Formats: sequence, structure tokens, C-alpha cells
Amino acid sequence: MGQIKLESVTKNFGPVEVIPPLDLTIEDGEFTVFVGPSGCGKSTLLRLIAGLEDITSGTIRIDGEDATDIPPAKRGLAMVFQSYALYPHMSVRKNIAFPMKMAGIPADEQKRRIDNAAAALNLTDYLDRRPGQLSGGQRQRVAIGRAIVREPAAFLFDEPLSNLDAALRVGMRLEISELHKRLATTMIYVTHDQVEAMTMADKIVVLQAGVIEQVGSPMELYRAPRNVFVAGFIGSPK
Ligand code: ADP
Ligand code: MG
Repeated sequence: MGQIKLESVTKNFGPVEVIPPLDLTIEDGEFTVFVGPSGCGKSTLLRLIAGLEDITSGTIRIDGEDATDIPPAKRGLAMVFQSYALYPHMSVRKNIAFPMKMAGIPADEQKRRIDNAAAALNLTDYLDRRPGQLSGGQRQRVAIGRAIVREPAAFLFDEPLSNLDAALRVGMRLEISELHKRLATTMIYVTHDQVEAMTMADKIVVLQAGVIEQVGSPMELYRAPRNVFVAGFIGSPK
């Protein structure tokens, strides 16, 4: 379960309309990428879905249910931030356990989920280290582990790889795609990187100034960009 539907969603910051009325359906299990230049509203849109920011008008539905007034912790979604969002004074194990502790999940169930997440992310040997003792890629895996243990209906990634160097980014891209295949959970992935979008997405949402310019598979956008902006952004020959 993890269908997310935005119906005429808008967002104003003071007098500025950052998101004009926007409609979008993300199907359960889909890997959707929001792509567009800096400042086009990608993070804002993700934060509205997560509930970290209130929408100005419209409706957000999760699996058909109106989630507009549901607080972030109860939406069943897990946001993955850049790796620096880890707690430096806590071990990897405690970092991963933290959201479960907040949710009051029993200790034995916490342990089971941590062991599973660590195995899936190759972190089993690092559970007692602190984030400062890990590589950038390992820290990013811990941030993903912290999302996995919540068993969310959807994962929301906001430029999770932008802190990593180019070589590491390619590896982590593959790892996240593998994870998506294994979990078959809805993932929304924000990036300004066209290559990331084209290689990872089932569906790409191209944004410009808060407006959806086009939605489609990487191949659809490449073959039939709707306008010059999409063509230019996707690197299509048109
Ligand atoms: P992106 O993630 O695509 O780079 P953002 O969603 O961060 O873009 O920002 C979209 C627009 O909204 C930008 O013009 C930005 O300055 C503005 N914005 C974002 N957050 C706030 C805020 N809390 N208050 C005022 N303006 C904001
Ligand atoms: Mg952003």
C-alpha cells in the first residue's frame, strides 16, 4: 500500500505562490523522480507530501484516505535526508533504532528490524560504530536503514546523494534501485540530476517554477518531450 495522490494542491510562502494548483498520482510501488532546476519546488513538494509543511489548499490522499490533516509521524511515510542528518553521538544501531523507539515498538521487534535492515544494507559489521567512523556511503546507508525499519508505505528521498563524490553516487544509485526492487515499496526521489532521473525512475515528473511540465517514463520523455524546456532538461535530441 502506498498510492499518493495530490489534488489541486497549492503552496504559498507569504504572498509568493511556490506551487500553483497541482494534480499528481503516484501509484503504489512506483519509483517516481521529481526533477527540475534548483528552486523549482521539488523539496517543497516532498515536504508537503511528508506533512513537514502544510499545504495552502487542496487535498493529499494516501491510499485513498485524506491525509491532509494527518501529522507527519502518522502518515506512514519515511523521509531520507542527506547523511549528515544522523546523530553523531549515537551508534549506528541507536541511530537506526531511534524512530522505532519514538514509535514505542517493543525491543525484540526493534532488534529484528535492525538486523534485517543491516543485512540488506551491508551494515551488520558497523552497528556499534558512530557515524563519524563511517565512510560517506555507509553513512547514507544508515540514513536509509533508519527509514526501512519504519516499514513505511513510501520512502521520500530529497537529493540523498548530493553530498557524495561522483564515483560513490553511481554505486549508491544502484543500491537504491536494488532496494526498490527488493522492497517493491513506493519511492519518491528528488534530484536536479538528469542522469539520476533517467537511470532510476519508473516515472519522471519534470518541474519548472512549481508547475509540472511533463510526466512520463524516461523513454517517453526522451522520445517525445512536450516542450523545449523538457527536451533541454532531459537532454533529448529534439
Ligand atoms: P528545490 O528543492 O527545487 O530547489 P524548493 O522547494 O526548496 O526548491 O524551493 C522552491 C521555492 O520556494 C524557492 O523559490 C524557495 O526560495 C521557496 N521556499 C522554499 N522554502 C521556503 C520557506 N520556508 N519560506 C519561503 N520560501 C521558501
Ligand atoms: Mg531542494
